Amino acid sequence: MRAEIISIGTELLLGQVINTNAAYIAKKLALLSIDVYHHVTVGDNAERLIEVIETAESRSDMIIFSGGLGPTEDDITKKVLSEHLDVELVLHEETQNKIITYHKNSDFEMPENNQLQALMLMGATPLPNDTGLAVGMFFKKGDHSYILLPGPPDELEPMVENHLTQVIVDNVLDEQKLVSRIIRLFGLTEAQLALKIEKIIKDQKNPTIAIYAEAGELTIRITAKGQSEEECEKMIDKVEKAINKEVEEFVFGHGEKRLSDVIKDILIEQEKTITAAESLTGGAFLSSISSDLAAGSIFDGGIVTYSADHKHKSLGVSQKVIDRYGVVSPECAIEMAEKVRDMFEADIAVSLTGAAGPSALEGNIPGTVWIGIAQKGNESFAKYYHFAYKHNKNRKLAVQNALDLVR
Ligand code: ATP
Ligand code: MG
Repeated sequence: MRAEIISIGTELLLGQVINTNAAYIAKKLALLSIDVYHHVTVGDNAERLIEVIETAESRSDMIIFSGGLGPTEDDITKKVLSEHLDVELVLHEETQNKIITYHKNSDFEMPENNQLQALMLMGATPLPNDTGLAVGMFFKKGDHSYILLPGPPDELEPMVENHLTQVIVDNVLDEQKLVSRIIRLFGLTEAQLALKIEKIIKDQKNPTIAIYAEAGELTIRITAKGQSEEECEKMIDKVEKAINKEVEEFVFGHGEKRLSDVIKDILIEQEKTITAAESLTGGAFLSSISSDLAAGSIFDGGIVTYSADHKHKSLGVSQKVIDRYGVVSPECAIEMAEKVRDMFEADIAVSLTGAAGPSALEGNIPGTVWIGIAQKGNESFAKYYHFAYKHNKNRKLAVQNALDLVR
C-alpha cells in the first residue's frame, strides 16, 4: 500500500499557512501501517492539480487530498476530480439538510453556492464533517482510492480521527486487524534509546517497532497485525515487556499524553497542589501545568522572579544566601522552592534558576540550571543540570526536566 498526500492551496505554496494537515495525516496513516511515499503541494489551479493527480496515480495506491472542498471559486478539488475520473457530482442529502438547518439557526442568509459543500462523487462513501459543513469522501476506482478532506485543520482532524480511520480499515486494509500502542519516555536521547532496544527492533517483523522524538520527549510505537484485536494486544504485550526490561525507568506514560499531562493526572489523582518559583524559564513551567481546564484543582498560583533583587524582595530568599552562594546555586534553588511552597501553601513546589544563555551568569556557563523541589513532609533538594543548547531550547529542557523530577 503506497499512499500520497496532495495538499491543495496557494496559501501553502506561498508559505502563508504552514502545512500541518500533511503532517497530521501522515502520522495517522503510520498508525495504520500505511506507507506514505510522497507529499505534494499544489496551488488552487486546475491544470496543475490534474498534473499532480496523474503523477500520483502512476505511483501510489491511495491518494489523499486536503483542501478545496469549500464553497468558493478557488475550491476546485471536487470539480477537477469529477472531470478527471469521469464521475458525476451528486448532492449528499444529509449534508444539504445540515447546511440548510445551520443557516436557519444562524443570523445570515444561506448563499446559493453553499450547496456546493454537499456535492459528492457518485458512489463515494461520505466522511461526515463534525465541526464544519463540507462533506469529505472516500472513493474507490480501479486500483486507486481517493480520499478528499477539508482544508481547515479543525475540520480535517476530527474527520480523520472519527470517520476516515474506520473507513480505511473497512475498505482498504485486508481482513486483518491492526493495533498500535504508544509508549512515552523521557530522560534519554533518541540515539540512546535506539541503542538500548536495538536487538528487539532488529528481530521484529510483527509487531513492528518505531521510535521517534518530539519536543524533547520520546515515543515508541508498537504496531501488530493479527486475526483479532486480542491476538494483536497479546503480541504487543510481549514486545512491551521486552522493551520495559531495558528502559522502564524512563517510561512516563502511554498514548498521546505529554509529560505535563501525566504530571497533572498524577497530581489530580493524589489530590495534591503544585506551585513554582521560576527565574530563567520566565513562567514556562507554570504555563505547562496550568494549560488545562482541570488545572484549577492543582494550582493556585506561582511566582516569576527573574532578577536577584526580586528573588529577595518579592519571593523572600534571604540576602545572605544570594550574597554567599549566588542565585545559580542549590542553596538558592532550595530556598526559592521552600518560599513559594509556603507562599501558596502547596504540597509540591518547584524552582528553576540558572543561566539560560547566551552569556554566563555569576561565572556559570550558559546552560547551567539548578532545579529545586520542596515538598511538604519531605526534605528539600536541588538537582544540577547542564544543557548545551541555545537559550530557548535550554529553557524548554529545564521545564521538561523539572516536570520529570516531579513525576
Ligand atoms: P473552506 O470551506 O474553509 O474554504 P476548504 O476545504 O475549501 O475549506 P481551503 O479553502 O483549501 O479549504 O483552506 C481553508 C483554510 O484552511 C486555509 O486558508 C488554511 O488556513 C487552512 N488550511 C488549508 N490547507 C491546510 C493545510 N494543508 N495545513 C494547514 N492548514 C490548512
Ligand atoms: Mg476554501
